[in-house]
Amino acid sequence: MADIRIPENVYDVIIIGGGPGGLTAGLYASRAGQKVMLLEGSSTVSQITVTDLIENYPGIPEIGGSELIDRFKSQAVGFGLKVKPEQVNEITSEYLGDVEGWKLRSDNEEYHALSVIVATGAHWRYLDVPGEKDFLGRGVSFCATCDAPFYRNREVAVVGGGNTAIQEALYLTKFARKVTVIHRRNRLRATGILQERAFANDKIDFAWDSAVEKILGDSGVTGVRIKNVEKPDETREIPVDGIFLFIGLTPDTKLVEGIVNLDKDGYIIAHGDMRTSAKGIFACGDCIHKSLRQVVTACGDGATAANSAELYVDEIKGQAY
Ligand code: NAP
Repeated sequence: MADIRIPENVYDVIIIGGGPGGLTAGLYASRAGQKVMLLEGSSTVSQITVTDLIENYPGIPEIGGSELIDRFKSQAVGFGLKVKPEQVNEITSEYLGDVEGWKLRSDNEEYHALSVIVATGAHWRYLDVPGEKDFLGRGVSFCATCDAPFYRNREVAVVGGGNTAIQEALYLTKFARKVTVIHRRNRLRATGILQERAFANDKIDFAWDSAVEKILGDSGVTGVRIKNVEKPDETREIPVDGIFLFIGLTPDTKLVEGIVNLDKDGYIIAHGDMRTSAKGIFACGDCIHKSLRQVVTACGDGATAANSAELYVDEIKGQAY
């Protein structure tokens, strides 16, 4: 085979996103001796960093989200991972010397890589009701860990019935006098152990079969108007000083729209080896289509993605030399 050259400035793999999936991919790739860079967007913060308590990461009975992320990062950096605070705005395919690869453009720079691991995660979903945007940061919050201390001895509402809503409602009871969980059905989606804790907590009230119609306020939130989804004419107002929205996630996958196949909700469709529909692009963590979004599953995906990217790059280099 004729000699095929790959320019010096080309990375084996560039990882986009510094949450559990991206950092685990970074740990595996750097430990395997790959030429790797992790770019973490300044505008997106991994959801886990705002999680107060993680108690289902094996081997660590209890840890705060941001401490766990710090540990992931220092372990990966210890193996040589380079981490840069850069928001990737565009990915395009290109020829790198004689091989196909990817160009990543940020505000300041261009990067070139044989393979890319997309670990861009997901962000909180909005309710899309009047008042929500007006009172953002003035009573409307997506982060109990950040904002709960403002509500000492006050009343707050939490919207949603999933693991996040219930876990954060429980956390809020450490500060607030009363927490009303507003849920659109009459059954929680959250896992059994969280449900048991919530039902046993006398600071938590439930507004079942209820949808938020409007968030009320003046200079800040003063209440929330809800309607009974079974009887839409039946509305009532709950006086609260704060409202926390935990109604699920929207994947951060705009960057790869039109490049890799997405499902109907915008999550990346990845195979078991984290390969996507685009050659050389792998994905991991909360941005992919899957059934369980946890730190531990993101880490598992990240390890698999790094391994698959390494095999892919080895194959290219095997062809190249
Ligand atoms: P989720 O599981 O998708 O739950 C979203 C909740 O919001 C559901 O109860 C849903 O109602 C409700 N909802 C959705 N859209 C709504 C709307 N427009 N109006 C009103 N309510 C709406 O999301 P999540 O709780 O943020 O969890 C995300 C992922 O992280 C999940 O995979 C979860 O298991 C994981 N997680 C795990 C833990 C843990 O293990 N401790 C903690 C946090 C998060 P319905 O139930 O009616 O659909």
